[in-house]
Amino acid sequence: MIAILGAMPEEITPLLDALKDYEEIRYANNVFYLAKFKDKELVIAYSKIGKVNAALTATIMIEKFKAQKLLFTGVAGALNENLKIKDMLYAESLVQHDLDITAFGHPHGFVPGTSIFMKSDGNLNVLATKIAKQKGINLKSGIIATGDQFICEQSKKDWIKNTFKADATEMEGASVALVCESLNVPFFILRAISDEAGGGAEFDFDEFLQSSANISADFILSMIEEL
Ligand code: SAH
Repeated sequence: MIAILGAMPEEITPLLDALKDYEEIRYANNVFYLAKFKDKELVIAYSKIGKVNAALTATIMIEKFKAQKLLFTGVAGALNENLKIKDMLYAESLVQHDLDITAFGHPHGFVPGTSIFMKSDGNLNVLATKIAKQKGINLKSGIIATGDQFICEQSKKDWIKNTFKADATEMEGASVALVCESLNVPFFILRAISDEAGGGAEFDFDEFLQSSANISADFILSMIEEL
């Protein structure tokens, strides 16, 4: 079983539209879609926005639906100026930018018993790079900083970028990484850029959410074919 997770309906609808045939299972205030694609069993869901929702949904996909790999598809705000709207990147590592017990002398993003950065699965990243090459897609990679905030302010954007050397920011990736790492499930986090996380990012987000979500979902489907 392979899990495909998004945060919002717009991020998984392109997949459900492409698969056409699926079964719906209601569980934990959410809907899980079971489907088959090229003989592969899939469980698909959108978690709803934010770290807790994403962690809950990822856990259910693994513990209840027995997912052995998890692929995240969605959109993010760019921090690195080389990333433009509609560009795609996967996370090599992820960090929770809003996790803060610095009052006790700890670095940002750290709590005892964890590491600041979580690394995604090398094999899935290599596969993604290979597919991107075959398709002539300019797939980038980097650090994704996750927090329960929509970033749309230059000073906040700069702080996250400089503190964690992060390339993109969103609201779910690092929590999914933590769940998958803890449960030994290889994971891949893909994001297409919807906005640049500075002033007015909410307007770009609204304009580019669907087109960027489609770009990400398309790529995830081509990865599933090769898994
Ligand atoms: N318009 C939505 C809210 C979107 S929140 C509503 O009203 O319901 C932004 C979502 O896209 C999150 O799931 C997050 O992961 C991602 N995202 C895209 N750009 C972002 C940014 N600049 N900062 C944080 N998250 C961003």
